[in-house]
Amino acid sequence: MSARIIDLFSDTKTRPTAAMRAAMAAAEVGDERAGEDPTVNALAERCAALLGKEAAVYLPSGTMCNEIALAAHCRPGDEVLCDATAHIVGFEGGGPAALAGVMLNPIAGSRGIFDAPQLAAKLRVDNPQAPRQRLVEVEQTANLGGGAVWPLATLRAVAETAHAAGLATHMDGARLFNAVVASGVPAAEYARGFDSVWVDFSKGLGTPGGAVLAGSRAFVAEARRWQFRIGGAMRQSGIIAAACLYALDHHVERLAADHAHARRLAEGVAALPGVAIDPATVQTNLVYFEITDPRFDTATLAAATLARGVRLCPMGPRLMRAVTHLDVSAQDIESALQVLGDALRG
Ligand SMILES: *Cc1c(COP(=O)(O)O)cnc(C)c1O
Repeated sequence: MSARIIDLFSDTKTRPTAAMRAAMAAAEVGDERAGEDPTVNALAERCAALLGKEAAVYLPSGTMCNEIALAAHCRPGDEVLCDATAHIVGFEGGGPAALAGVMLNPIAGSRGIFDAPQLAAKLRVDNPQAPRQRLVEVEQTANLGGGAVWPLATLRAVAETAHAAGLATHMDGARLFNAVVASGVPAAEYARGFDSVWVDFSKGLGTPGGAVLAGSRAFVAEARRWQFRIGGAMRQSGIIAAACLYALDHHVERLAADHAHARRLAEGVAALPGVAIDPATVQTNLVYFEITDPRFDTATLAAATLARGVRLCPMGPRLMRAVTHLDVSAQDIESALQVLGDALRG
């Protein structure tokens, strides 16, 4: 028996590996705020190239990337169109209203994904009564959409519709690399047509923090101003940027293993009584399932599995999430299924 918890709560639960820590310890560093940290500068340049953009800025978190992007693209009173389940709607502390001063106009997509006709139906005729529409935001992959991957053609059509209407486009790429590995489509192809895009390093890539926001030189200059304004500039942050560079070299391809584990988990969950999932919808590392057994809700089921060593993430009264990542092995998935089955039967 081991006291180790199999932590399926989130892919943010990864801890830096020994090799990542060695890369961090060896990092060349400088004063990031003054643009003098060589490791941070190398990371930003590499990410700009990977994402097909002119420039990039290193920031502490993905949330800050979203908030700064909204502020850089918009003026107070402007309207941002996004899926109703988007991270900026429900998970950023009301930042879009408090910081950028924007209105969010949610679109009822399917699994976090909307298409160009749904966007077109939301476009307003320019009219002094209406908020000025300024930005369209998408999430690749869609977190509350179950880790669904936006098809490239859908992204392209959405971006074209937005630009034709004079709107800018922003991509939340918290799990863009999961989409890249699942589909084989390069990151720059997904990001083409998006005026700004960011990637997170603290999710499946397994670093202790850090995200990179990319766009045109002019956009990044404005983002840098917002970075200072909200206190997001750091000092010798090459220590963390070194972990991000390490992750780009060593933790991208291996996301395929997380996806295989997620599929296996979904198939196993589908075979259990009292829970429901369509395993065919699991494309990446997020596994959402419904609790159908009336004896349980997410709080009681999560408590029952945690008591047996498996941590799950309640996302609503009956909606549970399990996330695979670097610190979860194939054997852990089998153990987690055993535990979930025992909890549901016990
Ligand atoms: C986690 C997440 C974020 C925020 O990233 P942090 O680095 O945790 O601030 C934004 N969008 C999506 C879709 C996420 O899953």
